[in-house]
Amino acid sequence: MYEINKVPKDLLLKQGDDMIFPKRRYKMRDFNNIVKRIDSFQDEMIDMQIKLCSIPAIAPTSGGEGEAKKADFLLDVLKNIGFDKIDVIKAPDMDAPSNYRPNILARYKGKNSSRTIWVMTHMDIVPPGELSLWNGDPFKAWVKEGKVFGRGTEDNQQDMVASIFALKAFDEEGIAPQYDIGIALVADEETGSEKGIDYVLAQSDAFRQQDLIIVPDAGNEDGTMIEVAEKSLLWLKFETLGKQAHGSTPEKGINSFRAASFLVTELNKLYKLFPEKDPLFEPPISTFEPTKKEPNVPNVNTIPGEDIFYLDSRILPKYTVEEVEEKIQKMSQKIEKKFKVKITIEEEQKAPAAPPTPADAAVVQALKKAIKAVYKKEGQAVGIGGGTVAALFRNANFEAACWAKVDETAHQPNEYCIVDNMLGDSKVFAHVFLQE
Ligand SMILES: [Zn+2]
Repeated sequence: MYEINKVPKDLLLKQGDDMIFPKRRYKMRDFNNIVKRIDSFQDEMIDMQIKLCSIPAIAPTSGGEGEAKKADFLLDVLKNIGFDKIDVIKAPDMDAPSNYRPNILARYKGKNSSRTIWVMTHMDIVPPGELSLWNGDPFKAWVKEGKVFGRGTEDNQQDMVASIFALKAFDEEGIAPQYDIGIALVADEETGSEKGIDYVLAQSDAFRQQDLIIVPDAGNEDGTMIEVAEKSLLWLKFETLGKQAHGSTPEKGINSFRAASFLVTELNKLYKLFPEKDPLFEPPISTFEPTKKEPNVPNVNTIPGEDIFYLDSRILPKYTVEEVEEKIQKMSQKIEKKFKVKITIEEEQKAPAAPPTPADAAVVQALKKAIKAVYKKEGQAVGIGGGTVAALFRNANFEAACWAKVDETAHQPNEYCIVDNMLGDSKVFAHVFLQE
């Protein structure tokens, strides 16, 4: 124990600090030094965001080349930080010009190798969408009022850069993290993860049960949301077949669009059929939303014989996906009968909810402490509507938490990352890396 009057000034605890480091007070100095170091990286971090934006890693199924070039750039960055081991796991993909989708696992030795603290982000991005909605080139990132704008800046580069620079700070300060640190940069998150973390989990034994797995790919504006559970996901495609006819003689055809519209209205009853609430989730209910609509006929004066629309359902874990599908089948049969159409339902995506990570899991507690230290806020474990890759870890029986401080501009035009969030999240990771 230090005698208080002999402790150098920078080691003196401010009020509340002893809550953060109850046992080893000198760590406060390490943390302060790392915080300062991270702040000094600000321009470098922005610069890296801009470079990452200029290498769009869009999945081949979304019309892009995949992540190979972005991965090569990132490997160069990682090689300049003292990682002990960098593995690249290549998932074959004949549709990518490189013929593979790269997944990077970089390991940094800590004082204790009994567990690894992982931060996993994804390299791929979604296409920019309608370019006229952007105030600039989505692949030439620009900085304005403390924000970096460009496709991928928030999803998922903000925390990719944050995690890499957190380790760089340890490296340059010569401070060893408490446990081994793993930085995972994966492919194919936006289109299902089959060639991303799914492939890595099947090919590699890098992840261990006792590891802490942080996936900064979901969050909220004040950085208090720690996502631990998800709803089941069900995406259905409805194809309604009627009979095409001239607009002046509708009696000679069967209007598939009208039938499909009645089906859309019918499907709204799912909200009443599955009304349960669970306060862990935001929103607390199951949702059933008609979304995508494919064009039917190109001209106004034709009765459409074919109509296609999609339904996006997010189902609370207390219901099974099957019981929802059963009700949907019945509704569709009712419409088929009433309108004399043929409706086929195809599963576009079906992901039953993974077992939740307990709200008191080690990874949740570590994040709570770090959020408190950096952002002065109380983190809270919550469930969300599904679709984060953490579910893949949970299905493989790992505890994983999604967390980031984000403005939720992902997938939108003028996507941006708040520079302070990038720095703050980096400090949160650093805090977790220091914790015992
Ligand atoms: Zn993402």
